[in-house]
Amino acid sequence: MASSSPPPKSFNLAIIGGGIAGLTLAISLLKHNIPLTLYESASQFGEIGAGVGFEANVVRIMELISPKVKEGFLRCANNVDRDPPVWFTVRVGDQRKADGNGVVLQRDGKDMKIGEPLFDMPARPGPRGGVHRAHFLDELVKLIPASTTQFRKKLVDITQVEDGSGDALLHFADGTTAQHSAVIGCDGIKSRTRELVLGKKEAEPVFSGKYAYRGLIPMEKAKEIMSREEPQTPQMYVGYGGHVLTFPIANGTLMNVVAFSSRKTWEDPEWVVQTSRSDMLADYSSWSPTVQAIMSAMLKPDIWALYNHTPARTYVQGRPRICLLGDAAHATTPHSGAGAGMCVEDCYILSSLLADATSVEDLEKAFRAYDQVRRPRSLKLVKESKEAGMLYDFEGPHGDDLEALELNMKKRMDWIWDADLSIDLEKARSIVKESG
Ligand SMILES: Cc1cc2nc3c(=O)[nH]c(=O)nc-3n(C[C@H](O)[C@H](O)[C@H](O)COP(=O)(O)OP(=O)(O)OC[C@H]3O[C@@H](n4cnc5c(N)ncnc54)[C@H](O)[C@@H]3O)c2cc1C
Repeated sequence: MASSSPPPKSFNLAIIGGGIAGLTLAISLLKHNIPLTLYESASQFGEIGAGVGFEANVVRIMELISPKVKEGFLRCANNVDRDPPVWFTVRVGDQRKADGNGVVLQRDGKDMKIGEPLFDMPARPGPRGGVHRAHFLDELVKLIPASTTQFRKKLVDITQVEDGSGDALLHFADGTTAQHSAVIGCDGIKSRTRELVLGKKEAEPVFSGKYAYRGLIPMEKAKEIMSREEPQTPQMYVGYGGHVLTFPIANGTLMNVVAFSSRKTWEDPEWVVQTSRSDMLADYSSWSPTVQAIMSAMLKPDIWALYNHTPARTYVQGRPRICLLGDAAHATTPHSGAGAGMCVEDCYILSSLLADATSVEDLEKAFRAYDQVRRPRSLKLVKESKEAGMLYDFEGPHGDDLEALELNMKKRMDWIWDADLSIDLEKARSIVKESG
């Protein structure tokens, strides 16, 4: 798989979890000839039948990790874009914001009506777009030799091997164990590795105050409901206590729908629950006919309770060596559309640092440098994403002031999309060097 052959490493890694983070990390590490085994609790790789979007900054990182990751992404991404590129076109979807004539805002003497485009949130140029999660995962899986992965391996504990090596002994639910120099936890929001690093209480996810209906609509049906063009580009309908996103996936053959609503608490121990069509429609009873038609047309909608992590004081532990990556480290709400993008960024930085490492001592230094560089940025996303969700739902500091919302929304992704990760990588490399 590697194009050149760097010197062999004197360490051997375990990756826990084969989602977007674990698979991308495995590809990144294998490129640098780093020995690893990926342990996945499920019997095969799999993602849910929903969409996920990646912006141009992330696709550039995919290419740095491996041009094949970018090619895989492009094979399943939606290719329709506007010039200049647009993240979402924003409209009001909630009739309570409109006056008797359907007007939601007066701009330059013109009436802006409910459902009309109010403004675009500009994106950045370059390949980007929405993919069906399962299709993208399939593309990642193709890049990993089957011998790298062990399925039905649910991690339950990690102890230290008593031979002075500091190695980790992984304990699985099936009673087996495995020894590795270090463990990289990519086991998602309900991460066991996070519990081991932070303790059960600190690791626990918290309910974000939002839940979402997720579903897909065949593109031809979506064009009947909206217009010929609208479903082919991302749309956001804002309102009181909720917002509705649509964007094309699966090369434009499906429209992905995520419809958010607010509530104070989530009591159900399950985070994904079935819903009845009538209960779902009741949540949007005061929304426009277009939004109601979108909701009615969703194939098999599910409700997802949206949880996020509280800020972790560290992503790494010394003995046994554990490093957290992706949602295991910083699970976020999806309102900035960047949780999976952060996973990809984590993989790029960590794998680049590990490519330079040759010993277990280097490994520990690399983990600490990764922690210092990645934690501030990824924790900022968790905070900002929650604020974004409240903003779109008229629950932020601007309430339902559409002009103030526009100013805020057009700028708030800049720090995510315009970051130069090569600077972060250089900083991390200096931290490694300075640590002797
Ligand atoms: C509604 C919604 C929309 C989103 N939209 C976007 C978007 O548009 N753009 C974006 O960038 N991000 C988005 N995100 C965020 C994104 O989905 C996540 O950040 C990303 O999928 C996390 O990937 P992961 O690999 O870290 O975790 P996961 O996908 O949760 O993978 C974890 C893996 O670990 C395995 N595992 C768990 N425990 C164990 C164990 N003990 N032992 C072994 N294996 C284990 C699991 O089976 C799973 O395969 C969205 C999230 C939501 C909820």
